[in-house]
Amino acid sequence: MAHQVRLTLDALQSLIDELQSREYIVIGPKIENRKVVYDEIAKIDDLPAGWSDEQEAATYRLHKTGSPALFDITHSMNAWIHHLYPSKATLLKASRENSGFTVERMKEAPPKYALFGIRPCDLEAMKKYDRILLKDTFHDEIYKNRREKTFIISANCTRPSGTCFCASMDSGPKATSGYDLALTEIIRDGDHYFIADIGSESAQELINKIPQAEASADDIAYANSLIEKAREQMGRTLNTGNLKEILYKNYENTHWDTVGDRCLTCGNCTLVCPTCFCTTIQDYTDLTGSNVERIRQWDSCYNNEFSYIHGGSVRTSSYARYRHWLMHKLATYHDQFDTSGCVGCGRCITWCPAAIDITEEASAIRQHSITV
Ligand code: SF4
Ligand code: SF4
Repeated sequence: MAHQVRLTLDALQSLIDELQSREYIVIGPKIENRKVVYDEIAKIDDLPAGWSDEQEAATYRLHKTGSPALFDITHSMNAWIHHLYPSKATLLKASRENSGFTVERMKEAPPKYALFGIRPCDLEAMKKYDRILLKDTFHDEIYKNRREKTFIISANCTRPSGTCFCASMDSGPKATSGYDLALTEIIRDGDHYFIADIGSESAQELINKIPQAEASADDIAYANSLIEKAREQMGRTLNTGNLKEILYKNYENTHWDTVGDRCLTCGNCTLVCPTCFCTTIQDYTDLTGSNVERIRQWDSCYNNEFSYIHGGSVRTSSYARYRHWLMHKLATYHDQFDTSGCVGCGRCITWCPAAIDITEEASAIRQHSITV
């Protein structure tokens, strides 16, 4: 497949038009309430052209740049998971009848999404979801049905944010697989265009329908140089060498108390993380007592009830919950799924109200390691 074409801004609009004509709901980055969110877009003008973001621990700001760039912002606050693995889903409904009750298992007509401008780290997170919710022993029906219909247009990163560390996690800043199209935005010599890497037959078929030109060797080299520059400018780094073993051996390290004193157990870090997938299931009965809905909703390991087993919760303290979360991301996920539970997107650092930074905490455990 691997060939690359050059697309103008108008061609990008044609791409969106073509997707919409095929009944795709196009999801892309847009500004809403002074932040970038990932949601439905109708046209290229909905993208945050001329805006950039500043992200640091507990800090998020947008500012105008005066540049026409569409992708000067890094990732959005919410990832694609809101669309493929909704935060709330009705699984079944039951109603009382004269001599018994009926149960209706909910089956949705899955929406057909085109994920436009999804970042390489988020694409890597999707591969982890695929592994967990499609390929292991059980699959998730809602995720599977939506995922199968999804068309993916990734946007390679040419500017990382202050909390990004995808280069340390081998999950960016360039998309390497799993996309239909991967775009790199170029503005040079007064020209504004995109190099599109074609990753699937359906993308090739789509590209044939819109105006495009073969990318020159110079264009491809320039696009790659922008991505390499981004790799060198990561806001954070994480030393992953032997990290799993260090974390396991430091389960009782007193540093967990220090971070536990700061953690508010608000769960923000789990709600923004593109690799978190825990849910809980609850039954809601209406006031008549005749109808009930079984609803699955996202859960967080920071909730007290999350670890409730007979008689009480296993993790009652904030340090135990933070330790559980970080250990899952960087150690136990490896043993469960043979991959890291972190793609280095940095969202948990940006959106933590207590400015707790996973890279700092992992490095503090390494530094104060008691047994390794
Ligand atoms: S680490 Fe930060 S975001 Fe996560 S639960 Fe604690 S205070 Fe909230
Ligand atoms: S743990 Fe933090 S940096 Fe890693 S994938 Fe989740 S939100 Fe991103």
